[in-house]
Amino acid sequence: MRHNDPYLHDLLRDERSFHSKRRTRVVVGVVGVVLTIGAFVQFAGGEEPAPTTSEVEATVREAQRSLSASLLAAQQPIEVIEAPGFAELAAEAGVPDETEEAPERWVEGTETSLRGSIKPNESVFASLKQRGLSNTSIHAVVSATSKEFNFRKSRPGDIWSVEVAADGAITSFRYETSPEDVWETSRDASGTYACEKVEVPLETRLVETSGQIDDNMWASMETAGLASSTILEYLAAFDQVVDFGEQVQPGDRFALVYEQVWLEGRKLRNGRVVAALFESPNETWRAYWNPTRKGYYDAEGASMERQFLRRPVAGAARFTSPFGMRFHPVLKRKKMHNGVDYAAPRGTPVFAAASGTIVQAGRKGAAGISVTIRHDSGYESLYGHLAHLAVGVKRGKKVSKRDVIGAIGSTGRSTGPHLHFAVKRGGRFVDPLKVAARPEPSLRGSNLREFKEQVSGPMRARLDQIMQKMEPRQIRFFFGSPAEN
Ligand SMILES: [Zn+2]
Repeated sequence: MRHNDPYLHDLLRDERSFHSKRRTRVVVGVVGVVLTIGAFVQFAGGEEPAPTTSEVEATVREAQRSLSASLLAAQQPIEVIEAPGFAELAAEAGVPDETEEAPERWVEGTETSLRGSIKPNESVFASLKQRGLSNTSIHAVVSATSKEFNFRKSRPGDIWSVEVAADGAITSFRYETSPEDVWETSRDASGTYACEKVEVPLETRLVETSGQIDDNMWASMETAGLASSTILEYLAAFDQVVDFGEQVQPGDRFALVYEQVWLEGRKLRNGRVVAALFESPNETWRAYWNPTRKGYYDAEGASMERQFLRRPVAGAARFTSPFGMRFHPVLKRKKMHNGVDYAAPRGTPVFAAASGTIVQAGRKGAAGISVTIRHDSGYESLYGHLAHLAVGVKRGKKVSKRDVIGAIGSTGRSTGPHLHFAVKRGGRFVDPLKVAARPEPSLRGSNLREFKEQVSGPMRARLDQIMQKMEPRQIRFFFGSPAEN
C-alpha cells in the first residue's frame, strides 16, 4: 500500500517526528517492562515456590537481550517502512542533499571526515563498512550510540557523519534521523565513547492566517496557504462543537494562530494551532490550546473536547446513517444498525475516538478491514470498512485519542466509501453520539486563572485583530445547493 494521500502523508510525518522524541527511552522501557514482569512473577507467586536460579537467570538474560536488540538492529538491513525518510523531509524543507557526491573512503594513515546516508535495505553498520572503516571502530561508536538511540528506528535516508583518525579509529560519530533529531557520540581522552542527543536550537514562531469559505471548506483553507496537518488540527479543535459536515455555509470565515518550527533560518514544520476562530452568521466559536491539559478550551476554560470523538474522521465527513433500526441497503431487509456511518472520500484518515488499546486489527467479516479499541470504564469502539490500516496499527498497541488508525474505504459489506463507527459499553452496543456527549472537565482555580492570563486573554485579542483586518463578509450565490454534494 502506498500513502499518496496528502492528509495521511502529513499525519504520518507528524507521527514520525512525535515517535522520534521517544526513541531514546525505548530500550530502557523494554528493559523496565522485562524487569517488572520478572519482579511481578516473583511477588505474585505467593503460593508458588521461589523462582529457581535458572528462572532468575532467564529474566536477566531476557533483559540483556532487549538491551542488545538495538545494537543488533544496527547490523541488520533496515526494514523499509512506507513513511517519508529524512531525505524526503529534508528535500521538502529545502535542505540541500550533500550525500549524492561519490562516496569517499577512509585511507589508512589519514584523518578523514566522512558523511553518508542509509540506503534502503542497508544497515548502519554496512553503510559505514563500505567506506573502508573497520568492524572494531564501527562497533565502538555504534554500541555507544545504541544506548541513547534505538537503531531499530533507523530509516533509509537517515544521515551519519564521522571523523576518522589516522589509525582508523572513529573519534566522533553523528547520526541524524531528522534535522531536529541528532545524536552525537565522541571519544574522550581515556578512549571511552559516550553518546548524547544534541540540543537543536529550534525557534517557534507564531503565524496567523484567515479567510472566507467558498463552496468547499478544505479547499478554501488550502487556498489560504494552510498545510493539511494544520487544517486537520483546526477542524479537530471545533470537531465536538461544530458539525462541519452540516453547518458550514459559503461566506463563513475562519482565523487561526499557529506555530511554525524553524531551525537556523529554515522552516522545518508546522506546529500546534494555538488559537482558532470559526464565524458563521449566527455564532462565532473560538478555541484555545491548553498546553497543560493538551486540549482545546474556550475563553472561560470549558473544554471543547468530549471524551469520545463524535466523528472520528479527518475533515468534513458526512453523517449518513444513525444508530437504531433501519432498512439495510445491501441485505434489503430491516436490521438493527449497531453504530453510525460517516461518508468521506476513500483514503480519508480515520482516528481513534478515545485513548485505549487496540484489541483487533484486520479483516473481520462484514466489517471488512476493521479496528477495535478497548477504552477505560468498559467501553470499546469499532471502526469498519477501512481501505487499510495505518502504519504500526496492530493488536496490543496503545493509541491516543485522534491517532490515525486507518483510512476510509469500502471493504466488507459496504456500498461505498464510509466509516462504520460503533461503540460498546459492557459488551452492549450503545449510540456513539450519546457516548460522545460526555464533556471533559473544565479548568478551575489557578489553572483557569493561568490559562486566561497566558493563553485565552492575549489570543482572543489577537484573533479579534485578525478579524478586524479582514474584508467584510461576502456572500457568493450558487445555482443549487453546495450542501447536497
Ligand atoms: Zn454502519
